[in-house]
Amino acid sequence: MRTEIYVDNAATTKMLPEVIGTMIPYFSENYGNPSSVYEIGARSREAVMDAREKAGAVIGAKPEEIYFTSGGTESDNWVLTAVYDYYGGKKNHIITSKIEHHAILRTCEYLERVRGADVTYLPVGRDGRVDPDDVLHAIRPETCLISVMTANNEIGTIQPVREIGLIAKSKGVWFHTDAVQAYGHIPIDVEEDHIDFLSISAHKLGGPKGIGALYIRRGIKIGSFMRGGAQERNRRAGTENVPGIAGFGKAAEIAQRDMAERADHERMLRDHLLKKLRAEIPLLSVNGSMEHRLPGNLNVCVPYAETEMMVINLDLAGIAASGGSACASGSLDPSHVLLAIGLSYERAQNSVRFTISHENTIEEMDRVGEAFAKIVERLRKMSPGYAKTVKGKENL
Ligand code: PLP
Repeated sequence: MRTEIYVDNAATTKMLPEVIGTMIPYFSENYGNPSSVYEIGARSREAVMDAREKAGAVIGAKPEEIYFTSGGTESDNWVLTAVYDYYGGKKNHIITSKIEHHAILRTCEYLERVRGADVTYLPVGRDGRVDPDDVLHAIRPETCLISVMTANNEIGTIQPVREIGLIAKSKGVWFHTDAVQAYGHIPIDVEEDHIDFLSISAHKLGGPKGIGALYIRRGIKIGSFMRGGAQERNRRAGTENVPGIAGFGKAAEIAQRDMAERADHERMLRDHLLKKLRAEIPLLSVNGSMEHRLPGNLNVCVPYAETEMMVINLDLAGIAASGGSACASGSLDPSHVLLAIGLSYERAQNSVRFTISHENTIEEMDRVGEAFAKIVERLRKMSPGYAKTVKGKENL
C-alpha cells in the first residue's frame, strides 16, 4: 500500500517547499562554479556564504567554522581519521560509545585494524546514556579524541554533552559529537557545550540528501579528508554542491526559527501515541530514557511480536516506521543500540521506532496507534510464548 503516514523521520525527512524553492535557481540560471571569478560564479559563491552563516548560527558557530561535506557519514569519517592522523600515531587512543552510528563505529574499527588505534567503547545505562564519569576515567595521556553522539538515531536518547565537553576541555582532549539527529531539533551551543567538532546532515531537518557539514572549532588545524582543489579553505576538495548547500542553509534557518514550536508539537504527538499504545498493548515498554530524549522519538519494545513483521504490517497499512536505523534495516542482526541498553537478543528484535515530525497530526497518531495495536494483537495470536505469558494474567 502507498505510504499515507510517515513516521520515520529519523531515517530522512521531507523537504519543505521553501527549501526546494531556494535550491531550484542553483540548478538552472545560477549554475556557476563558486570558485569562478565572474558574476555567475559570484552568485553561487554568495549562496554558499549565506548558507554557511545560517548553518553555523543554529549551533552558535562562526561561518568560518563550518565546512560543507556530503553528509553525516563523511563528517564522521573525516573527523576521526584526520584527528588520528594529526597526532601521527603518538596519541592513538579514541574514546567513543557503544551506541554510536555505524559511520563512527566502522571508522573506529578501521582505525584499529589498519592504523593501530586503541578505541574505548563506553557502555551506556538502561536509559541509553553515557555516564560522564566513565568518560573521565577512560581518558589517558595518549587519548586524542572523545566522540560521543548528541542524540541517538534509534532510541533518541540525548547524551550529557555539556558535561562531557567540560571534562574533555579540562583534560585538554578534543571533543567531537555526531549531532546528525539533534542539530536543528534541540538547542546546541558549541561554546557553552565545549564542542570542538560536530557532524551535521541536512536531510534530517527538511534539507536535501547528500549534503552536510563538519563544524571545526577555529584554530584547530586538522587535515582534509578529500584531497584535490582548494575549496572550503583547502579543507574539503571538490566543487561545492551549491543547490544542496543553499537548501541546507534554508532548512537550517527554518529549523532554528521554528525549533521550540516544532519540538512542542512533536512531543505532544509522541506522548499521545505512547499513551494510546500503552492502553492497548500489554507488556509494551519504551527503550531508553523518556526524560532525555528527542521530542519526536518513540522506540518501543513489544515482546512476542517480531520487528520485521511489525514493520512490514505497518507498511501494508500505509504507515512508514522502522525497526531501528535505516542504514541497518535489511540486516537481521539485532540492533547494537538495543543490546547496549541491556535488551536480550530476542527483545531487541521485538522493537519498533516511530519518529515523528512537525508535519504529523494527532489524527495520524490515532491511526498509527489503532493500526499498530491490531497488528500486534494479530502477531501475538501466533506466538506460543505470548499465550503462555498471559495465561492467568487477565489484567495484563
Ligand atoms: N550519524 C547519525 C547519528 C545518523 O543518524 C546518520 C544517518 O542516519 C548519520 C550519521 C549519517 O548521515 P548521512 O545519511 O548524512 O550520511
